[in-house]
Amino acid sequence: MTESKSPFQRILLKISGEGFAREGETGLDTELVKGLAEQLRSLTTDGIQVACVIGGGNILRGKQSGSLGIARATADYMGMLATVINGLALADALESNGVPTRVMSAIDVHKVCEPFIRRRALRHLEKGRVVVLVGGLGSPYFTTDTAAAQRAIELDCDALLKATMVDGVYDKDPHVHKDAVHLPELSFDQVIQRQLRVMDQTAFTLCREHDLPLLVFDMNAEDGLSHAGRGHNIGTIIRN
Ligand code: UDP
Repeated sequence: MTESKSPFQRILLKISGEGFAREGETGLDTELVKGLAEQLRSLTTDGIQVACVIGGGNILRGKQSGSLGIARATADYMGMLATVINGLALADALESNGVPTRVMSAIDVHKVCEPFIRRRALRHLEKGRVVVLVGGLGSPYFTTDTAAAQRAIELDCDALLKATMVDGVYDKDPHVHKDAVHLPELSFDQVIQRQLRVMDQTAFTLCREHDLPLLVFDMNAEDGLSHAGRGHNIGTIIRN
């Protein structure tokens, strides 16, 4: 395998469900999925080991349980299954693009993918396969952000790259305040002191306690994913 020119040898990329649908829409947009696969392919050709944790918000989130009239735990399992659908779509696009890929799930769906087994996942990464992690952590009341932080630590990744709809962290919500200031670099303590919202508390605490650098970047920026994976100066980097 080619040696990586990036500061990262192994990354965990969190792609939320929003990355699989057009803005304001639900379901899957295959053109977007192909775009994601192409950017991931370019990272693997640089020798970067890539694991992705996939969200499911484009299909269903557990917190919609009230409006759907479904028990929260059931809706959470439905959300986890949504991540399986997205992950299979991404894996298909990657394989069509010539990228060896394995889908590993935290919930048992053995007809369509492998179960998540740490040592096996590490082996896939070492062999240059993209590992698409679905099913979150396999338990209700968690998010795929938390799954991403947990898996990044468990798989000894150099960084967690969180693809979002904004180009990093601001001092206040840029969608509401025109004068919001972009913050390119922060420590975990600064995020807490300034009460900035980066990701859910459980995920954030895991990154902080395990010294896992967290890069937040815009998934819609041109080649955003490829730049983030190569450690280029985009978005906001948070580290101790
Ligand atoms: N989910 C869960 N446990 C997990 C991960 C996810 O119950 O470990 C459920 C939860 O209902 C969540 C949904 O799956 O809302 C989809 O994941 P998430 O909302 O994190 O997706 P994203 O916002 O990244 O698209």
